[in-house]
Amino acid sequence: MHRRNFLKSSGTLISGLPLINFNQFNIFKKTFLMDDEVVKIKVGKFDCILLRDLMFKYLAKDFFINASQEELSESLKKYNVTSENIPSPFIALLLQFEDKKVLIDTGIGFLEKPLIFRDNSYVFQGRLQQLLQNENIKKEDITDVIITHFHPDHIGGLFTDDEKLNFPNAKFHMHEAEWDYWHSSQSDTQPALFKYFIEKNVTLLKNLNLNLFKGDFVNLLPGITAVEANGHTPGQIALNIHSENEHLLYISDAFLHPLHIERLDWQTNYDWEHQKAKQSRIKLLELAYKENMLVNAFHFNFPGLGRIDKFQNNWIWKYSEY
Ligand SMILES: [Zn+2]
Repeated sequence: MHRRNFLKSSGTLISGLPLINFNQFNIFKKTFLMDDEVVKIKVGKFDCILLRDLMFKYLAKDFFINASQEELSESLKKYNVTSENIPSPFIALLLQFEDKKVLIDTGIGFLEKPLIFRDNSYVFQGRLQQLLQNENIKKEDITDVIITHFHPDHIGGLFTDDEKLNFPNAKFHMHEAEWDYWHSSQSDTQPALFKYFIEKNVTLLKNLNLNLFKGDFVNLLPGITAVEANGHTPGQIALNIHSENEHLLYISDAFLHPLHIERLDWQTNYDWEHQKAKQSRIKLLELAYKENMLVNAFHFNFPGLGRIDKFQNNWIWKYSEY
């Protein structure tokens, strides 16, 4: 696996600064990464582009609902975040190989005007479309779109504000369990904003080029395998992207923060079913660890790349560059 421009520019910048002390170096590096929007890596035959659609801010009380106050504040310190501000990107992934351009998740979308919903105003102006354009990739060029689950930050970019399909030539892959749940009365207790995003995006795909698949370890395209990872939602999938003995495991929202890897009992408000979510977490950790896979997490610090390690029976997340 070759790393390309990852951190290249930050290295150049840092080496040009005289007498910088260690702390400043760390702060500087973090500041630089916060601004990064595109990272390119190679996984076997796949040219991968990681795209940061948006930066969002979550609260510890939603991310870690059953953690003890004391343990939580210690842990948050370790990650240099506060309970009021856990910065979190939305990361889409584009895979290019042979004549295919495969987009995995579509970000929150771009709305011209703020969305007023139940008297709250939301400004959702994701950068994905712009970033693809910067890479000279047209919406028409996308051959496949894989949706890992139907939360707004993953489906918002399927249609434009005025209901035009963003990727007119693509085949759309998603798990049938996810589709069935959100299109049945079972999901009536879910936030209305989620249902709204699904109506405006996913449901409109019904009569288009839709591949609703069932089962576990399903090969969607050569070298791209869907792995069931439900719990966060009823039909969430992870993706094992594999080629020439290299692997990239796209874990989507099975983990929202590295602390969910280190503390498997810490639950989040955003999960549909906690026990199932935990089982899926263990399944993915074992899979990644066994093959020493590179892992990509949708909400971890951009570009969300790292590997899974184990120490005294505890799982550990290690951010890595490639
Ligand atoms: Zn998400």
